[in-house]
Amino acid sequence: MIVEHTDTIAAIATPPGAGGIGIVRISGPESIAILCRLFRKKGMCGPAGPADFASRRLTLGLICDPVSGEEMDEVLAVVMSAPASFTGEDVVEIHAHGGPYLIRSLLGLVVAQGARPADPGEFTRRAFLAGRMDLTQAEGVMDLIAARTNAARRMGSALLCGELGSEVRRLRENLLDLATRMAAEIDFPEDVGELVDTTVLFREVVEDYLPSLESLIHRGEAGIRLREGIRLVIAGVPNVGKSSLMNCLLDRERSIVTDIPGTTRDLVEESLNLSGLPVILTDTAGIRDSEDPVESIGVERARASILNADRVLLVLDAGRGADEGSCALEKEVASCPYVVVVNKKDLVEDSRRFSLPPSWQPEARVDICARTGEGVDTLRKVLADLAGVSSPEHAVLPNLRHTRAFEKARDALVRVREGLGAGYFWDLLSVDVDDAVRELGTVLGEVSDPDLLDRIFSDFCIGK
Ligand code: GDP
Ligand code: ZN
Repeated sequence: MIVEHTDTIAAIATPPGAGGIGIVRISGPESIAILCRLFRKKGMCGPAGPADFASRRLTLGLICDPVSGEEMDEVLAVVMSAPASFTGEDVVEIHAHGGPYLIRSLLGLVVAQGARPADPGEFTRRAFLAGRMDLTQAEGVMDLIAARTNAARRMGSALLCGELGSEVRRLRENLLDLATRMAAEIDFPEDVGELVDTTVLFREVVEDYLPSLESLIHRGEAGIRLREGIRLVIAGVPNVGKSSLMNCLLDRERSIVTDIPGTTRDLVEESLNLSGLPVILTDTAGIRDSEDPVESIGVERARASILNADRVLLVLDAGRGADEGSCALEKEVASCPYVVVVNKKDLVEDSRRFSLPPSWQPEARVDICARTGEGVDTLRKVLADLAGVSSPEHAVLPNLRHTRAFEKARDALVRVREGLGAGYFWDLLSVDVDDAVRELGTVLGEVSDPDLLDRIFSDFCIGK
């Protein structure tokens, strides 16, 4: 554990602007003394003493400037004594009236009494360093604050609860135990005898640890999609109803819908929340060879956006089926995961009767009527399922940092598996087991360096 300086820090904990109340938060060894110098209890004339504040109870009083003697505001103050506080240090909160000028002046008084203005995320960083939470939980605090969808909020609170941390800690302990057994075998082969036999070791790695890591990585990919969103591109030959589908998904008239082929000449991009999954949705110009130079540029852009897509919606017209143009487009789209959307199902008696060419490999097919919106909810659900963000088991989703560490741990264990197969000596393999243990430790923050902490906590807001 890294020991960092423990001076006293202070920050405004409420958002900028005017509000009902504004809170100045102080943490560190001097925080109670600073409060006492500024606080005057109702009905008393001199400054307060520590005994005036029962821990975790609000106390009514006045904040006075100790230099001019001027009364600044009537406030509620609360002291949370170490170690039972968010940061594990003495914490003070002053709840004042929420005027931006007033609250900045209060912070000024606190700083004049010796507190240092806090860096972004510094309170949470202290909570982590004091062992009040592991690093995944600290990241949960940030996710919770940054959440803009309900799914993101759920993900943040699951992280904050420490569910991912416990899962990773269990796995790390098992690997650590394995490393210890291997080391004993290497150092004292005659004493330990058959502590670890190669077959057992192989089975542990292949049947327990690798699948656990693969599942964490898989969930991590869903977590990254939920945090960062995906690019969904609508493609199709002219007039199949791409713009109409875009409007259905967005529930408003953004794309120009006409019956003149080639109306959408440029890309139309919109963001959309699909069961909590942030999506950038792009409507492309119908891809076909065109004489019109403006339309040709649109077609080029459409091709480029397909290359960048996470998933393509290939739209067909139920009346026209998989015609020549659509078959040519399918070849361009097929390098990317794609879903076939058969639109205008109202035009044919049973759209299901027309089947797709056998060479097509879409992830799914959904028949819709963009004119009435029929089938669009099914499409939404299919897309959420494909992104892996709809099932409740996904509540605890690792983020990019965790996922990269899991991948490194997995690669290390794959080396162990291969080495065991090739009959390598254990002292070589134990290096890889140690690597895996270390990677899992970085996820929890057990082996962390100040640079990593700087990177994580600098994304926080000040006052958290
Ligand atoms: P795009 O060129 O692929 O973007 O196609 P549009 O969305 O502009 O639609 C082309 C034409 O098809 C318009 O006249 C739409 O009104 C019509 N259209 C779109 N969806 C449907 C549908 O589900 N049923 C029917 N009958 N017509 C549709
Ligand atoms: Zn269009």
